[in-house]
Amino acid sequence: MPRLIADRAVLRMTSELGRVMAAARAREQAGERVLHLERGEPDFDTPPHIVEALAKAARDGATHYPDQRGETPLREVLVEKLARENGIRAHVDDIVITAGGTHALCLAMQCLLSPGDELLVLSPHWMAIPKLVGFADGARYRTLPVYLELLAGRWTPAEFAARLRAAITPETRGIYLNTPNNPTGAVLSREHQAALAEVAVERDLWVLSDEAYEHLTYDGVQHVSIASLPGMAERALSVFTFSKSYAMTGWRMGYVVSPPALRALMGPLLAFYTTHGVFPAVQLAARAAVAGPQACVAEMREAYDRRRRLLLEGLAGSAAVQAPVPKGAFYAFANVAGARNGRDLWALVDEWLGFGVAVLPGTAFGPEFGDWVRLSMATRAEDVAEAGRRIAQHAGAGARA
Ligand code: PMP
Repeated sequence: MPRLIADRAVLRMTSELGRVMAAARAREQAGERVLHLERGEPDFDTPPHIVEALAKAARDGATHYPDQRGETPLREVLVEKLARENGIRAHVDDIVITAGGTHALCLAMQCLLSPGDELLVLSPHWMAIPKLVGFADGARYRTLPVYLELLAGRWTPAEFAARLRAAITPETRGIYLNTPNNPTGAVLSREHQAALAEVAVERDLWVLSDEAYEHLTYDGVQHVSIASLPGMAERALSVFTFSKSYAMTGWRMGYVVSPPALRALMGPLLAFYTTHGVFPAVQLAARAAVAGPQACVAEMREAYDRRRRLLLEGLAGSAAVQAPVPKGAFYAFANVAGARNGRDLWALVDEWLGFGVAVLPGTAFGPEFGDWVRLSMATRAEDVAEAGRRIAQHAGAGARA
């Protein structure tokens, strides 16, 4: 019999999210009600004018092979959006349309990481990152926990830069930055990003900037794109997605903005030979999203902001669960050391499923986060509020028992 599974570490990686979702499903099949705070999937439907644009584009014949870099009319409106919202001056040829942000990150890692190279991943980090590095043959990553400290305001920009310098090795080629951050909700200030940029220039590193949650910030905090800072245009790759801003997770629409040196690789080689582009009608619908009214983006942001307050109010009743106030994205990362009480984190996750609340263990976001869980606010406000109350009621009691 042939060997059907290659001997590659990436093929042996497992998914914590898959495990939680399977456990939640099993309970639902047994008739229990589960509040889903484990997934990062917006519960909103895609705004109707975007859906209509898809139907029209498909009827009008946008059904043929796409341009490997992405449809020009979409990339043209993105040039304007990047200048207006992100302060990034991009040429249309430096934007490549991808099948979601995940694909954009995958392409970026493919062209940036050689065998033996190391990516410095600021953490806690989105759980797909180890797999995406794993697909880049022979590449490795090292984590540097920063977001909880930055969210708590514990490090000045100079202290942040010092931590970065201390974590860089001769193999480090680049830094993966994600602000607003999944899972902590930390949003890096312009000054902190300038400190990172300075270190990147000094050590001649590239920066992979994941801006999936660019439109979701709270309490007057502003999102800053690192590619807009001095010296960064030639070394930053910026990844964006329609998934969160326009509730378009299923459409698989994202883009990467790269330095001109990557023009020949990103579209013609990597996008072409991985997906051969994205359905042109979906790209024209995405154009309608960017060029059309932005009220839908603001409405969803306000809804997440309300849920954030409801969740924190609910959790405030618990001494054993401490959640720093997130400033962006739609998650809260909560410390459960008091509720875990020395037990395995999965035992706590199972206990919480028992009172109907599904969450993701912090270890999905880096090995250092065994005392943490991620609570997603991408589900209905009533469910988020109810989950906060149940956690406060049961988790504290569990810890005292
Ligand atoms: N980056 C981060 C930090 C994310 O949380 C996600 C989605 N959960 C993505 C990128 C990619 O999203 P998509 O592929 O749907 O664009």
